Amino acid sequence: MSHEVNSIAVIGAGTMGSGIALVAATSGLDAFQVDVSAEQLDRARAYHDKVLSRNVEKGRMTEDEKTAALARITYCADMAEAKAADWAVEAATENPEIKGRIFEAMKATFPDHAVLATNTSSISITQIATATGDAADRVVGMHFFNPVPVMKLVEVIKGLATSDETVQRTIALAQRMGKTPIPANDRAGFVSNRVLMPLINEAFFAWMEGVAEPEAIDEIMKLGCNFPMGPLRLADFIGLDVCHDIMMVLYRELGDQKFFPCPLLRQLVTAGRLGDKTGRGVYGG
Ligand code: NAD
Repeated sequence: MSHEVNSIAVIGAGTMGSGIALVAATSGLDAFQVDVSAEQLDRARAYHDKVLSRNVEKGRMTEDEKTAALARITYCADMAEAKAADWAVEAATENPEIKGRIFEAMKATFPDHAVLATNTSSISITQIATATGDAADRVVGMHFFNPVPVMKLVEVIKGLATSDETVQRTIALAQRMGKTPIPANDRAGFVSNRVLMPLINEAFFAWMEGVAEPEAIDEIMKLGCNFPMGPLRLADFIGLDVCHDIMMVLYRELGDQKFFPCPLLRQLVTAGRLGDKTGRGVYGG
């Protein structure tokens, strides 16, 4: 099945999809940026222009390289416009029904040699693959981190039916995009969120129990563990609602009480204090 990859379709033009399409284009791939929302496509286009212009200002690339990278991105309101792509990665809303419908369409749209990857943070790759029937061997988790142009890691997740060849090809493509791929198996939260979320949750418990104030908790973890940012600051960055939802997936799938979101985290989410995206979370008021 091995086939050279020249072009990639990125389904979803939000925070992650726009970053993935940009990194693909700056790595020399043709990128089809697909979204059902025209507004999101406009936003992605503006984001691409802004990041590349900043790279030129900082001397990281030439004006010609910027123009060439932008010319490699095609913005598509319909997946069918991207049907020539050799690879597809889905980075749409984190909802199993939406992803199921998208994967059905991906199987019908892209050539038989195309890998069908998902950037999901928490949904089972094995479950997503069921929407593709006999193409499940080509379905894989390709989990980028935010912000995509900066973060080096791609967690490569093998579902029950994912072929070894698909995993190897995903590793090769991630490397070509300048990333460091690390394989993991398909269990809730994979490795990154399974290990990170209990840490964040415990930081909320420590705050709730009055062990220390958020600033002190974050400073202790930064200075004591050499973390670039503390767990509560990171929770604001990720989104408290997103952290809550991932913890619930871990709790349901793995059945361990330790994943159940701390009451204080639940309360902040209920109050609409979701972190950076709402201007208020642990910090900001
Ligand atoms: P987002 O809300 O910023 O973007 C999602 C996009 O998907 C939106 O533009 C929406 O219009 C689009 N979309 C919805 N249905 C679609 C469809 N049928 N076809 C095409 N586009 C459709 O979300 P995000 O933060 O970019 O997350 C995307 C995925 O990446 C999720 O699975 C999420 O779990 C995962 N992820 C997110 C992060 C993060 O830090 N935000 C990190 C790693 C992985």
